[in-house]
Amino acid sequence: MSEDIFVVIEHLRGQVTDISYIMLAAARDLAQASGGKVVGVLLGSNAQALVNNLAADEVLYADNPAFAEFTSDAYKQALSGLIGEKGPRAVLFGSTTIGADVAGGLSARLGLPLVSSCIRIGEAGKLVSQICGGKIMAETNLAETTTLITMIPGGYKPEQGQGSPTGVTAFSATLGDLKVALLEYIEPEASDVDITKENVLIAVGRGIQTQDNIEMAEELAELLGGTVCGSRPIIDQGWLPTSRLVGKSGNIVKPKLYLALGISGAPEHVEGMSGAETIVAINVDGGAPIFDIAKYGAKVDLFDLFDYLIEAIEDAG
Ligand SMILES: Cc1cc2nc3c(=O)[nH]c(=O)nc-3n(C[C@H](O)[C@H](O)[C@H](O)COP(=O)(O)OP(=O)(O)OC[C@H]3O[C@@H](n4cnc5c(N)ncnc54)[C@H](O)[C@@H]3O)c2cc1C
Repeated sequence: MSEDIFVVIEHLRGQVTDISYIMLAAARDLAQASGGKVVGVLLGSNAQALVNNLAADEVLYADNPAFAEFTSDAYKQALSGLIGEKGPRAVLFGSTTIGADVAGGLSARLGLPLVSSCIRIGEAGKLVSQICGGKIMAETNLAETTTLITMIPGGYKPEQGQGSPTGVTAFSATLGDLKVALLEYIEPEASDVDITKENVLIAVGRGIQTQDNIEMAEELAELLGGTVCGSRPIIDQGWLPTSRLVGKSGNIVKPKLYLALGISGAPEHVEGMSGAETIVAINVDGGAPIFDIAKYGAKVDLFDLFDYLIEAIEDAG
């Protein structure tokens, strides 16, 4: 086994996704502890075109029409061959639909341990991960064998994983019969507002308690020139349309201001908003994980704060 840290680079519609850069930043910390190299692994049909901005010591890329669109079948076949041959110390995947599928499958296929929802690398290369929806932080050492890891955003900024790769090497992926093919890529329907383009988002979570209380968020949004969005429970209740969902199964947003009202900061939510420039969190629970990524936070009942907040914004404006 080598001491190298592999990062499986994700890309969609010809763009490397932010989680890939975040993983490269985490891999740098992990490689410092292991003494190995950071190696990006890129599977695509024109993969070489995507390597330029990856801050890795080496990028291994495989060009194959079978990788034109993601399928778990092709990825698992290619990566199980590569991991078997190179024996890296660890392999990082995004905690995304793609990464969770491939990492889980490879763990079962190769009999390798999998640490999920890792948010950062702690002292001496310990993996710090969120479990129970972010309510518990766990520290884990790398196993004696190759350790598979899924990473959630929040611990690193994408810019930390951007730069030029030192070396770029093609490899030929071993593929057998492929049983899964992508038939069609369906773009989501256009919606009332595109929250991915908004500069100010007022996000409501279960802490808002009732549908009627969403009016409070709307009042704030109007004052700040923003839009209201929500976490999964709010959308599941039908209090806001699906187009306003932020997170893993919704939209990835990057506003200048993200005001989170009564949102705990579960990994699936954070995946959609950790790229916001300034995150402000209001929550009664001082231990809520949203405070780990917030720039400003108030441990307070949002209903006690609301009138003061409106007054302060009006005074400022
Ligand atoms: C496969 C999968 C995909 C998912 N995708 C998404 C997704 O895309 N987006 C998403 O958001 N979730 C997603 N989830 C759900 C996610 O795991 C969480 O359950 C969800 O994000 C929690 O929403 P919440 O923070 O609003 O609620 P909770 O976790 O219940 O948190 C409510 C918070 O409000 C605080 N609070 C309560 N009352 C007040 C008050 N009066 N004042 C201030 N604070 C108060 C509480 O302290 C608590 O922290 C997904 C889950 C799975 C399994």
